[in-house]
Amino acid sequence: MRKTRNLRIAVQRSGRLSESSVGLLRRCDVGFDNGLGKLRSTARDFPLEIFFLRDDDIPRYIEDGVADVGIVGENILEESGSNTDIVERLGFGKCRLSIAVPRGDAYTSLADLAGKRIATSYPNILGRHLCQHNVEAEIHTISGSVEIAPGIGLTDAVCDLVSSGSTLLTNGLTEVETVMMSEAVLVRRRELDAELEAIFASLLFRIRAVGAAARNKYILLNAPNEKLAEVVKLLPGIKSPTVMPLAEAGWSSVHSVIGAADHWNIVERLKAAGAEGILVLSIDQMIG
Ligand code: ATP
Ligand code: ZN
Repeated sequence: MRKTRNLRIAVQRSGRLSESSVGLLRRCDVGFDNGLGKLRSTARDFPLEIFFLRDDDIPRYIEDGVADVGIVGENILEESGSNTDIVERLGFGKCRLSIAVPRGDAYTSLADLAGKRIATSYPNILGRHLCQHNVEAEIHTISGSVEIAPGIGLTDAVCDLVSSGSTLLTNGLTEVETVMMSEAVLVRRRELDAELEAIFASLLFRIRAVGAAARNKYILLNAPNEKLAEVVKLLPGIKSPTVMPLAEAGWSSVHSVIGAADHWNIVERLKAAGAEGILVLSIDQMIG
């Protein structure tokens, strides 16, 4: 009998996306070990093999057929020019690729950078952006510590990844222009045979269920029946809230699912509307 094949997924070995990528697979109940220094691991409960790689190499590995799918920042994908397909945005690793200039330098538009030197690890994305705006500048490609380039007199500006902006601040730089927004995405090779396609569909089903769960909370509360209408109005639920009578006459228990983003706001309004014993629970997986 032929052994079932494994789908091969590439994730970042060690860096900003590693923990969330591994965490996502774990929440999909794909058990594996990823001890320090491991390059690959086979999942125990799912036909999946995990490759731990440098993020820059992931698009190429997928294109070359060494891996089938991967988790990588959109910035890396865009820079590589790879023709892998984005299947799902994953909501972590959020950042932006921005142009920054020394604090105090006059800057009104991209045209101010004409003839200037810009340090970046993203020459392709920056080159395209400058070209789209008809600005000619000198791009200095460096692979790390881009933010120090103006300080040491190498360039006049930088084009680098920013999340909080604190690295720019400590290096005396001001962000003046966003070139692209980025987050971690799930990518796949275009051509997968039927067997791998089926495994990928199962993995994607789980990833979507985990993603939906993370964006929502399960809420339970008690409310006196005369306040029920007002309480229920605040709770959309998947279809609509579940309302059940409590053992104590005149009271009901209400169950619902609410968005995690502003759930504190809803909880406060529920309390003000007369709800009591409010419980807010995390959801592991949610299938609509
Ligand atoms: P590797 O050793 O795998 O090449 P790296 O040093 O190139 O790692 P990291 O700094 O770990 O990469 O960043 C990985 C990804 O995390 C980036 O490509 C980007 O998509 C995302 N990211 C989120 N916020 C930031 C940030 N503030 N700075 C850099 N990357 C960020
Ligand atoms: Zn990298």
